[in-house]
Amino acid sequence: MNASEALFERARKRIPGGVNSPVRAFRSVGGVPFFTRSAHGCCLTTVDDVELIDYVGTWGPAIHGHNCLFIREAIETALKYGTSFGTPHPYEVTMAEMIVDCVPSIEKVRMVNSGTEATMACIRLARGYTGRDLIIKFAGCYHGHVDPLLVKAGSGALTFGCPDSAGIPARTAESTLVLPFNDFVQLEATFDQHRDTVAAVIVEPYPANCGLLLPKAGYLSRLRELCTAHGALLIFDEVMTGFRIGLGGVQAETHVLPDLTALGKIIGGGLPVGAFGGRAEVMDCLAPLGRVYQAGTLSGNPLALAAGIASVQRLKETVPYTRLDTAALTLREALLDAATAKGLPLQVPQAGSMLSLFFTETPVQDFDTATTTDAVLFAKIFQYALSQGVYLPPSPYETCFLSTAHDARALEKTIQVVTEAVRRQ
Ligand code: PLP
Repeated sequence: MNASEALFERARKRIPGGVNSPVRAFRSVGGVPFFTRSAHGCCLTTVDDVELIDYVGTWGPAIHGHNCLFIREAIETALKYGTSFGTPHPYEVTMAEMIVDCVPSIEKVRMVNSGTEATMACIRLARGYTGRDLIIKFAGCYHGHVDPLLVKAGSGALTFGCPDSAGIPARTAESTLVLPFNDFVQLEATFDQHRDTVAAVIVEPYPANCGLLLPKAGYLSRLRELCTAHGALLIFDEVMTGFRIGLGGVQAETHVLPDLTALGKIIGGGLPVGAFGGRAEVMDCLAPLGRVYQAGTLSGNPLALAAGIASVQRLKETVPYTRLDTAALTLREALLDAATAKGLPLQVPQAGSMLSLFFTETPVQDFDTATTTDAVLFAKIFQYALSQGVYLPPSPYETCFLSTAHDARALEKTIQVVTEAVRRQ
């Protein structure tokens, strides 16, 4: 038994499933998850001293690679002054100004501790602002483990959602409608049917939680038009895409501006942070100005904000997005070449430093088509790559993240390993 296996055996006795977040348990790909001892640059080192080129990037935050000196130094500086104040402090103002400066639709912003908290607050604020209850979301989009958002489509078109987890009251799920992403007809029909009762539409503008999906031309702008026409708020969940697709996220790239935006991941520099922001008129409905209550003991924690400010500041200084896009494209081309040579169907949707692998002939555009991917084949490729030092996301429905630390050598090794993995199938 190696050190990871021994730790997993201990962990399973005291932690449900041995993990603090389900996908870490490797259920989709099989085997025992490795335990990480340290992380530097584009690599993780396991407790068994195995070095792995990492395409998970702590699920998104590590856009500069792991354990960057400039982030560590920012945390160390902040640490000299204290770990938590429970009062306003200067880092909060700096972070708010940076976010407003970068994200086009945000005029005011509030910090929270996770992406889940950010989307949860957006939903409450949208309901408080509009005085309506109904929420529309899209199948395959994940917004954290928020009760009204952890729902799946009911049977038949235009039906209300059903809980996607035990413990969520049916009544809560019934206030959420779940639609297929990229389907104009169902979207229009739903707004027709529910007219002026929709509080908000929440969407990952580039959904990245059932693999990566890209919106059809005009889809996001049609969403914007319908929300405006029906007095519903449009919420972009940019927890994944914020500061990753570009400094201004998908909204800056597509020029479709939501009313509210949820952020997380990169803006914490690897520490626990989320944020939500939007038009001042909407944000001012929050307590203490307005009647929508939202609060947090550790919200705006100085260490987390010091890390986040350093992370965002570095992105503003270096603007690495073209470089990241080129690296991801190189990887994409190599993967497609390998699959073609082997005669395997493969689609590799990519946006900036995000890409995913779908082993299917069916064009992938929504949750149903994403699930036509060959999950067994993905698991085999994952296991071979892992055995050769390349850590892909441990599920066929997760997205690969590149960082600025993935240099030519790392990419070359990845291409060689994944090509061989495909060749062996
Ligand atoms: N929204 C999106 C798009 C996410 O990808 C995630 C997490 O992966 C969340 C929200 C929830 O964020 P957190 O895990 O920080 O609560």
